[in-house]
Amino acid sequence: MDYENQDQAQATDIRVLLVDMSPISRKLVKSMLQHEGYLVSEAAKGERALEILAAEYHHVVITGMVLEDMTGSELCARIRAASSHRYTYIIALSGKGTIKDITHAIEHGVDEFMHKPINRPLLAARLCLARRIIDLEAKLKLVQMQSQDLLMKDALTEVYNRRRIQSDLPAEIKRAGRYKQPFSVVICDLDHFKQVNDAHGHLAGDQVLKEVAQRLKSNCRMDIDWVARYGGEEFVIVAPETGVEGAMVMAENMRNAIEEAPFKISDSLSLEITMSFGVAGYSNVPESGFSPDEILGQADLCLYKAKDQGRNRVCYQRCVAEDTLHGKN
Ligand code: GH3
Ligand code: MG
Ligand code: MG
Repeated sequence: MDYENQDQAQATDIRVLLVDMSPISRKLVKSMLQHEGYLVSEAAKGERALEILAAEYHHVVITGMVLEDMTGSELCARIRAASSHRYTYIIALSGKGTIKDITHAIEHGVDEFMHKPINRPLLAARLCLARRIIDLEAKLKLVQMQSQDLLMKDALTEVYNRRRIQSDLPAEIKRAGRYKQPFSVVICDLDHFKQVNDAHGHLAGDQVLKEVAQRLKSNCRMDIDWVARYGGEEFVIVAPETGVEGAMVMAENMRNAIEEAPFKISDSLSLEITMSFGVAGYSNVPESGFSPDEILGQADLCLYKAKDQGRNRVCYQRCVAEDTLHGKN
């Protein structure tokens, strides 16, 4: 559902799971829901309802309070405990429903209570309320995602920032270790960048930084590799599932992409820019992993080597797990 371009979710976007042990009651409520345009699934038992929910997210659950294998409250509690990342709005249907029953059901996660026999306009109104809550939750999620993304992005270059490295690099290494995959990191730094600022001003320098970030990005695999600004004029590229040879090729392509085309600052100013690269990588990450500082440190040493050897080049280091050195791998 495209929540960004829609003020309120339509009935036809909403999946409703109807849980009731009585086929007659199910048939009746189902026809009311379908009349309103909702997509309806059905279950007679609580366990079946949980299976359906595990297989596919449903926005709304309408459940009877007495099921063959559990109570409606128990079903609610289990839906809430399943900790889906999306909210399910739960309406309980009850024949009599004392205050105690209602309180108990609400405490177990029911949002709304309706008494049987069900009145169609009232059911439609309750579902309108459900849609409002579902919309609010979706909008909140979107804002949360956008601010999370903003928090991880560098304001100038719009690639990721150091925070993303700190938060996601450990998990990437862990995943590579779990599947014993190759893994590499590249650190790169603009050559003599201070001279660019000194000669043409910081604004020109900023323009170069933005363009560099784009050239780096367009030379790595979308959705797998990621580029982050590590500091001033230094960038890190994290390359999962890539050994040192692959990362060397990527870094060489990046180096070439920076060098080959001058950076156009204005109609009268184009700058020739170069960049040095340090690459460190494992051909297969040990199950025990390694610390992010270890691989970043190795790549940084290689970057220093590239600077020492005259800049505008790629130096690399093949990392070997301790286990392998001791013949355990
Ligand atoms: P080297 O080849 O040894 O890396 O030389 P360098 O001049 O690039 O290195 P140095 O560390 O001496 O200078 C880095 C420069 O990067 C200095 C600083 O002004 C510039 N810089 C850092 N962040 C920014 C920024 O956000 N915008 C601009 N315009 N310049 C920046
Ligand atoms: Mg530099
Ligand atoms: Mg630097």
